[in-house]
Amino acid sequence: MTDNPDNPGNPGNPDNPGNPDNPGNPGNPGNPGNPNDGKTRTYEMLWDCEYCGKPALLGKTHRYCPECGGAQNPEKRYFPPEDKKVAVEDHVYTGADLKCPACGTPGSAAVKFCGECAHPLEGAQEVKRIADQPADSSAQKTPKKTPKKTPRKRLFLFGGIALVAAAALFFSFGMKKKVDIVAAQHTWQRTIAVEQFKEVRESEWCDEMPKDAFNVTRHKEARTERDVPDGEECRTERVDNGDGTFSEKEVCTTKYRSEAVEDDKCNFSVKKWEVVRTAEATGGVNDALAWPQVTIQNPGTHLGAEREGARKEAFVVHYTDATKKTYTCEFSQDKWRTIAVGSRWMGKANNVTGNLDCQSLAPAK
Ligand SMILES: [Zn+2]
Ligand SMILES: [Zn+2]
Repeated sequence: MTDNPDNPGNPGNPDNPGNPDNPGNPGNPGNPGNPNDGKTRTYEMLWDCEYCGKPALLGKTHRYCPECGGAQNPEKRYFPPEDKKVAVEDHVYTGADLKCPACGTPGSAAVKFCGECAHPLEGAQEVKRIADQPADSSAQKTPKKTPKKTPRKRLFLFGGIALVAAAALFFSFGMKKKVDIVAAQHTWQRTIAVEQFKEVRESEWCDEMPKDAFNVTRHKEARTERDVPDGEECRTERVDNGDGTFSEKEVCTTKYRSEAVEDDKCNFSVKKWEVVRTAEATGGVNDALAWPQVTIQNPGTHLGAEREGARKEAFVVHYTDATKKTYTCEFSQDKWRTIAVGSRWMGKANNVTGNLDCQSLAPAK
């Protein structure tokens, strides 16, 4: 079904004006003012005539109101809403307008005399610039203000409650209650650890592994974090050029996200002395102090050999309060002996844990 000669229709239909290649596109709107920076664009500021009320006049094009001839007041210029922006073609910036010292009329900085009264503009001050506003302020002006308030207030309220709760917890941890206690009993405890030379499996960062490690396997694990670039955050900044135009520039900053940095983790075997059991001897104030009996099996330095480890001793006084709650304190042997059974003591205990602060103990009067 190709090339049907009887079909006169399609190819060059002279009546169809459609789709010419864009004949009339006179001005290319939104051409950058600065050819070196594709991100900067220049637009007309707007002003409303103070005399006849004609709105949205162009800051650069309309120095006088086309309706009534009234002079533009540069201090009443404003940034146009997004849909009212008028680009300034091939904008040549000669500086902010100068305010005539005699009559106050703004004049282009490229001109030497006031167009209104012919007063020299030399030494004249620049017109006041209009402060930058958020670029999309036209979309979110006043109407949105009210609904925002309620959730914010609620947020403050919740924040306040959380803060008070945290503070309460903090203070109760630090807070001590007074205790009134009686020394009830003395005990001592002596221990000797028994260690065995063993082959154990451990895990460390490979660069911190002991030198005598063996049967090593490696794998990757997150060790630290680093910030890596994660795209850009861009916003449009508007600057009043002071000559009836403003420039829009896209300002971008790099965003960052946290990324795990992996490192080599090693599982390995190592031979080392480890505590396998602890021998213990205990007694009261009238029992002679003694170290526990320790039986060392297979003495030596081979795998499975045993040796004596650390020796420890503790001298403990047990107290009770009126509710039969018990407290303990560890002292040096000398101090321990001086605390008489039945003696009464005042001290402080932690409100939350109930632990006695042994440093706080003083004889009750
Ligand atoms: Zn006017
Ligand atoms: Zn003047």
